[in-house]
Amino acid sequence: MDNPFSLNNFSRPKLEMPENEKKLLLHSCCAPCAGEIMEAVAASEIQTTVYFYNPNIHPKEEYEIRKDENKRFCDKLGFDFVDADYDKENWFERIKGLENEPERGKRCTQCFDMRFERSALYAHENGFKVYGTTLGISRWKNMEQINDSGNRAALRYEDIHYWDFNWRKKGGSSRMIEISKREEFYQQEYCGCVYSLRDTNKWRQENKKDRIIRGIKFYN
Ligand code: SF4
Repeated sequence: MDNPFSLNNFSRPKLEMPENEKKLLLHSCCAPCAGEIMEAVAASEIQTTVYFYNPNIHPKEEYEIRKDENKRFCDKLGFDFVDADYDKENWFERIKGLENEPERGKRCTQCFDMRFERSALYAHENGFKVYGTTLGISRWKNMEQINDSGNRAALRYEDIHYWDFNWRKKGGSSRMIEISKREEFYQQEYCGCVYSLRDTNKWRQENKKDRIIRGIKFYN
């Protein structure tokens, strides 16, 4: 039976943003997570700017690949793209003492807080009333943890709202993969920081799998 939520069959609903806003600042972590969300907001005629602020990504070459892939899709859809700072020194400073936390733990809360605080600030300074993030579409992430950080950052400004839409619902997660394959996005194999690279490789070693070779795997 055909999947009613796959790209060929799914009729995209008209999305409503908080406060009935039509303009969105979308913090994006990478092209694979952003693809489905970008197509959904485009179909709802939400005027969207993609904000790429991810100083957590290590090393720089990996950061550049993820950024370029995201920009490539922005160009294709005609979205504005903001290439924000790669202020990795501040990121390392922020997570000091949390290097050995597990994924979804306290280090990740700080990592989300830092990225969303900057996103909310950019929204506040540039005429956006609503911001959101692509991070929550990934099943590897704790959506409650992400939404808590997103709301916390928005609360710093009276005029900013965080859009906590659940992008995984109604086949969003599977369309995310469909779009990634169709667009042949780069397929990263770890969350992003040097500690997630370390821990993923450790897990692979323990499970007799090959170590990650960065920069070679693309969806196809
Ligand atoms: S595992 Fe991912 S979310 Fe957590 S600190 Fe590292 S890059 Fe950030």
